[in-house]
Amino acid sequence: MVSKLIQQLAPSATLALSSKVKELQSKGLDIVDFTVGEPDSNTPQNIQNAAIAAMRGGFTKYAPAAGIADLREAIAKKLKKDNNIDYSPSQVIIGVGTKQLLYSAFQAICNVGDEVIIATPTWTTYIEQVKLAGATPVLCPLKAPFRLKASDIAACITSRTKAILINSPGNPTGAMIENSELANIAELATQHDIYVVSDEIYEKIAYAHPHTSIASFGEEIKKRTLTVNGFSKAYAMTGWRIGYAAGPQDIIGGMIALAGQTTSGTSSISQKAGVEALLGDQTAISTMRVGFEKRRQIAYLLLTEIPGIEVALPDGAFYIFPCIKKLLKNGQTSTDWASDLLEKTHVAVIPGEAFEAPGYIRISYAISIESLKKGLTLIKEFVNKI
Ligand code: PLP
Repeated sequence: MVSKLIQQLAPSATLALSSKVKELQSKGLDIVDFTVGEPDSNTPQNIQNAAIAAMRGGFTKYAPAAGIADLREAIAKKLKKDNNIDYSPSQVIIGVGTKQLLYSAFQAICNVGDEVIIATPTWTTYIEQVKLAGATPVLCPLKAPFRLKASDIAACITSRTKAILINSPGNPTGAMIENSELANIAELATQHDIYVVSDEIYEKIAYAHPHTSIASFGEEIKKRTLTVNGFSKAYAMTGWRIGYAAGPQDIIGGMIALAGQTTSGTSSISQKAGVEALLGDQTAISTMRVGFEKRRQIAYLLLTEIPGIEVALPDGAFYIFPCIKKLLKNGQTSTDWASDLLEKTHVAVIPGEAFEAPGYIRISYAISIESLKKGLTLIKEFVNKI
């Protein structure tokens, strides 16, 4: 029988829904898929070429568990240049995507009984990963437009608090934390001597204001922060399974030891591609951001035209998170509503329950403008009928 640890693990609701959509599509149904969690473009050509060159050049063997030296160095340079944080390459670990590095971070910092504060709505992976580390997730509910403030966190701090998770721009709301609040959170974490795990995966997809890394607010907060990021969203590299974390030497050392006994690091080929991604031409990033910003505007305008739907303009990422509470009837949940929508109109959205936010739906606009308009028109027709 499967272990108790795995029995208590909630499956990834977003991955499950995406698989359901793929299954319906394979049966020939024309589904407008708003569940996607990845850019709709292919990995830029220069990055693909670097991977091909690595393979042809025989760079196909085990890589060090911590990651290859030239990529650790390129990441340290990137963190200095883009994020204004000084990390030495030895304070950087490369892993199998941001998701795996977050898992490894919680394993490295948490003991049984520790608490980790997570603001909701949230990407529920954090909750499951904290539990897998034997710690307790403490949920901190936010109100729309979901911009986390230090005072929200302060209300959740106890003597057992070990870490705060922040994700700006965030999944599923697209909300960003304002710089003044980031500074306050840094102060709070320093005062209470707690870690901050900062998931910065959507840093390059920010519209409201440029992204700021919390570790850049000074030595005290840098000592307590794990800056986690990756290549999936910025460089359209979701399938390459590559990400990185930077932080205090002892914690990074722990994560490297864990990688040594679990993953043996990530693909050598993906890592060479990662070097090109960071050091090569960066124009693909701004092209992608401009494309997403245009679609964000379309999604926002079309959603505001639907009676009963309330929506905030997201600050970043490629998600919009409307409230559908006024549309729910007789005990109906957002999960019921989303199933009904899928069945009747062939439009797939992720219900808020998947993000600890019942009464909402997540719409990803990382799809073509044509599909975006079609899907939102279908939602409007669906709402007008109920
Ligand atoms: N962090 C957040 C907030 C995400 O939304 C995702 C993917 O959807 C990830 C991390 C995972 O990124 P990666 O592909 O680098 O594992």
